[in-house]
Amino acid sequence: MIFEGQIRKMIAENGNPIRYYLNLKDDYIDLNQQLGKKLTLVHDHYECLGCGLNKEIYRMGYCQNCFFTLPQANESIIRPELSKAHLGIQVRDLEWEKKFELQPHIVYLAVSPDLKVGVTRATQIPTRWIDQGANAAIILARTENRYEAGMIEVALKNVTSDKTNYQRMLKTEKAEVDLVHQKDLFKVYLPEEESKFYLDDNTIYEFHYPVMQYPTKVKSLNLKKEGRFEGTLSGIKGQYLLFDDGTVWNVRGHEGFYVQLSI
Ligand SMILES: [Zn+2]
Repeated sequence: MIFEGQIRKMIAENGNPIRYYLNLKDDYIDLNQQLGKKLTLVHDHYECLGCGLNKEIYRMGYCQNCFFTLPQANESIIRPELSKAHLGIQVRDLEWEKKFELQPHIVYLAVSPDLKVGVTRATQIPTRWIDQGANAAIILARTENRYEAGMIEVALKNVTSDKTNYQRMLKTEKAEVDLVHQKDLFKVYLPEEESKFYLDDNTIYEFHYPVMQYPTKVKSLNLKKEGRFEGTLSGIKGQYLLFDDGTVWNVRGHEGFYVQLSI
């Protein structure tokens, strides 16, 4: 069967294991069913997530023009502490920014497999953790807006990372980190103004990925350079497809690519 369409981030449904769907905008392909089978990917052209034009993707699925003009790609997406909507200040589109930033956010600790801190909208739980390939996560604080969550994250960046090492994430099946203990240790680092957002609930969220075999060495597929790839799917973790020859494909990193997929 041949499918084609614009790559968007994979859709994940939490479960044991997690179920993944490749999102080609008009077609959804159940990827768990494809484990152990051969896939062929061909890059045909680009379709920017913003303007829909066949323009080279710059970052986050957007062409250069969309990346530098759309509110969906403004600085506070990557650095929540730069949010300005709570002050009524526009960065690119105040109405859009108000809707996005002025809603409950959470600050979390995740194991992916190293301990990291992160921020996301409360509605993105547990999707955000699955997208990062986390093995486990705990909520540290729940705030009223994005700015407050960003301020907590900035304070915690002094004591832990805010990045995921994707190679270690893909190679590691399980990591033992005492998240309740870590959360307790980090409590004192919350800025005074935001300390009231600390969450007492210590629920641990755990994730099980559909991976037949974890790679020992990974080689990242760059579809722009290669144009075409053929391989046998051996697992799915985070936003990556794993193939049995050690190739890993960052699906989210290829948003806006228009591809043909044969299965
Ligand atoms: Zn565009």
